[in-house]
Amino acid sequence: MKKAIYPGSFDPITFGHLDIIERSAKLFDEVVVSVLANSSKTALFSVAERVSMIQELVGKYPNVAVDSFDGLLVDYAKSIDAQVIIRGLRAVTDFEYELQIAQTNRVELPELDTVFLTTSLNYSYLSSTIVREFASYGGDISVFVPEQIIPLIRAKYKKL
Ligand code: ADP
Repeated sequence: MKKAIYPGSFDPITFGHLDIIERSAKLFDEVVVSVLANSSKTALFSVAERVSMIQELVGKYPNVAVDSFDGLLVDYAKSIDAQVIIRGLRAVTDFEYELQIAQTNRVELPELDTVFLTTSLNYSYLSSTIVREFASYGGDISVFVPEQIIPLIRAKYKKL
């Protein structure tokens, strides 16, 4: 049984993330999409909101679960008995940071490996930051995120 964690902020989840999830689900027996709860960034959505949005979108994959964690990723991986971390790579700018994190995690827990999936070309520009930026100015975000979550994003900016 190969269990993989796909960790991230997912604030909010985008088509880029969903593409990585769909492809990971074909590669591993079980994929746990896990929302990082101790990010230093101020988030648009609470962890519970992000978990429930992701749950709704990945319900169609029987081997994908959704969870959240705080603290060190290596400790979390140990606690749920996962052997693999999945990260997505969009551009060279992601690479340096991701390599450093992956190497640090390997020093901490050598049996935990990080697997990088390169983005599908049509999503290479896409990030949660771009979605928030566009949404904050009332822009069209339908090419970035699934339509079910558009009203939730819009509602956040109406309140601000
Ligand atoms: P973090 O805040 O930890 O960077 P994100 O929620 O932004 O987490 O992303 C989680 C993971 O998904 C990261 O590995 C990131 O590189 C990857 N990712 C984000 N957007 C895309 C995309 N458009 N294509 C491929 N991978 C992506």
